[in-house]
Amino acid sequence: SLAVVDIATTLHPNTNLRQHERTGPLVIDRGDGIRVYDDRGKEYIEGLAGLWSVAVGFSEKRLADAAYKQMLKLPYYHTFSSKANEPSIRLAEKLIEMTPSNLTRVFYTSSGSEANDTIVKMVWYMNNALGRPQKKKFLARTKGYHGITIASGSLTGLPGNHRDFDLPAIPVRHLTCPHFYRFGMEGEDEAAFTARLLAELEAVIAEEDADTIAAFIGEPLMSAGGVLPPPAGYWEGVERICRANDILLVSDEVICGFGRLGTPFGCQKYGFTPDIMTLSKQITSSYMPLAAVVFSEAIYDAIADNSEKIGNFGHGFTASGHPVATAVALENLAIIEENDLMGNAVRLEAQFQAGLKSFADHPLVGEARGAGLIGALELVSDKNTRKPFEKIGRAGALASGIGHDEGLIFRAIGDQLALCPPLIVTSSDISEIITRLGRTLDRLP
Ligand code: PLP
Repeated sequence: SLAVVDIATTLHPNTNLRQHERTGPLVIDRGDGIRVYDDRGKEYIEGLAGLWSVAVGFSEKRLADAAYKQMLKLPYYHTFSSKANEPSIRLAEKLIEMTPSNLTRVFYTSSGSEANDTIVKMVWYMNNALGRPQKKKFLARTKGYHGITIASGSLTGLPGNHRDFDLPAIPVRHLTCPHFYRFGMEGEDEAAFTARLLAELEAVIAEEDADTIAAFIGEPLMSAGGVLPPPAGYWEGVERICRANDILLVSDEVICGFGRLGTPFGCQKYGFTPDIMTLSKQITSSYMPLAAVVFSEAIYDAIADNSEKIGNFGHGFTASGHPVATAVALENLAIIEENDLMGNAVRLEAQFQAGLKSFADHPLVGEARGAGLIGALELVSDKNTRKPFEKIGRAGALASGIGHDEGLIFRAIGDQLALCPPLIVTSSDISEIITRLGRTLDRLP
């Protein structure tokens, strides 16, 4: 069977491999709206939109048509050495129009990791060009997720992505994770927590010397770390401190971008304006691999001047500005606009978040949290002390398996159950998601 061949052949990403050999894969065979079906025909609501990414659902024919049409016309061309193609030009124009007005330039990659690696290299290149080669360090956060390649994986602040990979491999300082429930101290309220995090940021800058720090990178709302909304005032403070110290601010919008939080981009939800943005996932609803770095004219100018001086900006990928991927992105963004899917996130936020909060009294749920159409339940062994389980991840894995049985796919991040349904969900879909989640929780021992 397919499962046997899979077990015999494939190294699965982010998987406990020996366990996978025992249990085998869940082979997903087809999609329909917010639902997917496995190879035995069993139906699941895709409560994580794939990997936080399929905004328009799993059966949008317009995206298939856009890809087919572009493949017939020009299936591939590159953008090295001044070459260009229409869909990638049109998409750049669109992204610049959609993002905050200070962002005026676009660089394409195929994945969020490559986009964040690109940001590291762009910023290093820029600071070399500006005659300040010592300004190279990055600031990031514990539990942040920025990808998995050597530079982006270094920015990521999750031990499982560092351990035994010899990461971090670039100069980066990870600051305290801005999650009050886990990192707030005894007797501290949320405002005091925010003040402590900002004081820490200032202290780290003083200790390292601002002249050695290039940029601060963060997700507006940390997602892969467990869906962790920031405390009030956090981002305004981070922005103020970065500006005061000539440190670039990078908003990694790979999950928050394109309406996940009800605003076009996550930075708008939390009131800050980045110098650079990373976009991916919902940009094509993941029907094609694509990511983009959108950045300011000042950064562009420094890079462009240097490329003339040394002859080239020696960075880029075979698939940078891929015509099929960018054509699919344009169609996908048109669908999001025409159907007001960002407005859908605004309209359904209260119902979705209240549904999650309805489990707050459950004996295993320590915290129910989220924003827009993303949320999580954190399972704990003791609600009062917030004590995690002895064996981290076992309850999460168990819940995930029961969820499958109940026809709901979510993501267990340790013992945190993350949900991020496609932006096309309806009110009755959300009721069904919450019902299936409730059944799952009730079956946990
Ligand atoms: N940045 C964020 C915020 C992400 O959530 C992810 C992936 O989940 C990435 C970057 C990396 O993207 P990719 O998996 O496409 O390399």
